[in-house]
Amino acid sequence: MASIFTRIINGEIPCYKIAEDDRYFAFLDINPVTRGHTLVIPKQETDNIFDLEDDLLGGLHVFAKKVAHAIDKAVQCERVTMAVVGLEVPHAHIHLIPINSMREYSFANPKVQLSKEEFEEIAANIRKNF
Ligand code: 5GP
Repeated sequence: MASIFTRIINGEIPCYKIAEDDRYFAFLDINPVTRGHTLVIPKQETDNIFDLEDDLLGGLHVFAKKVAHAIDKAVQCERVTMAVVGLEVPHAHIHLIPINSMREYSFANPKVQLSKEEFEEIAANIRKNF
């Protein structure tokens, strides 16, 4: 069965999309650690990011870099951080999480609650800067 992220790429499940090209896709995390928390994924469905073929893994990071620069311009933050976890969704992904302090940088923190309008506004601002 297709992963939830493949279903997002295919438009079967809605998302707040940031960007895509022929190999990669970026969208807002639905349970953000901070405002602007974005997921960057390869369109090819592979569970473990470290099983990606070198060129695809390298390209994923270059695509994530462009998204991170756009987040940096769109969201007030000190740094855009990068994390790989993969415990929940078996489709390789990079978390890009803008933070202002280490305290904000924890998956154990209560997630930020945002309205549909707030998600849309954040996504539009990041898209504008991509
Ligand atoms: P991980 O697999 O790295 O532990 O976490 C998966 C991430 O995907 C979580 O931060 C979770 O909030 C996010 N996520 C899970 N399902 C969906 C979804 O349907 N849409 C979006 N936008 N994010 C999701």
